[in-house]
Amino acid sequence: MSTESQLRADIVEVGRRMYARGYTASNDGNISVRLGSDRLLMTPKSVCKGFMTPDMMCITDLEGTKLEGVRDPSSEMLMHLEVYRQRPDAQAVVHAHPPTATGFAVAGVPLDRAVLAEVVTTLGSIPIAEYATPSTKELPEAVRKYVKAHDGMLLANHGALTLGADLFAAYYKMETIEHFAKISLVARMLGRENLISREEVLRLQELRGTVADVLRRAADGNSEGEIRLTYRELSALIEDAIRSLR
Ligand SMILES: [Zn+2]
Repeated sequence: MSTESQLRADIVEVGRRMYARGYTASNDGNISVRLGSDRLLMTPKSVCKGFMTPDMMCITDLEGTKLEGVRDPSSEMLMHLEVYRQRPDAQAVVHAHPPTATGFAVAGVPLDRAVLAEVVTTLGSIPIAEYATPSTKELPEAVRKYVKAHDGMLLANHGALTLGADLFAAYYKMETIEHFAKISLVARMLGRENLISREEVLRLQELRGTVADVLRRAADGNSEGEIRLTYRELSALIEDAIRSLR
């Protein structure tokens, strides 16, 4: 478990990288991490993520009440709280506006085609959560629909959101989404996206452990369990299972 001072320094570093890579402009974006079981360490409202210092961070409880910090917590705090509520495994949440991925979010084009092995193994498909006004309670409602099954998503006409088992895992998923969006854009400009075969997608998902997870939850009869495959991926799995029974 990282110490609070290490986590403060890590948030500063991730903010610096996001700003340096152009994932945020001006004061955009926000970052949070769990601090023990009942508190969050979060970036403050209205600061440029490229120029933060460790003392700027806020500490809140899981309901969003500020416990420590001179500044107020991020204006997107409600969205972060919703992710932690829905995903007890999430240790960190990152939100930014990386331009190419956000372009897909503006165009209404999800990054849901299996074209890159590393994306299939780390994120699966990347859906678009419906548009909601930033900083309102409608935004966490839009995110809630997808966050149980996805570690990363686009936010329509807004940006992207990722979560992870630690801060750098959440941040690297943001890098992967933007990288994937750039590659997808080039492939689409060239007029063709050759998809990875269904057999290979299943093999990659086995590597990620998702197929085993789904089958185990199905065996447990736990319909409330988190399903980390998209509806389309799950349909493909069921089709394959039916075919093998014939
Ligand atoms: Zn935003």
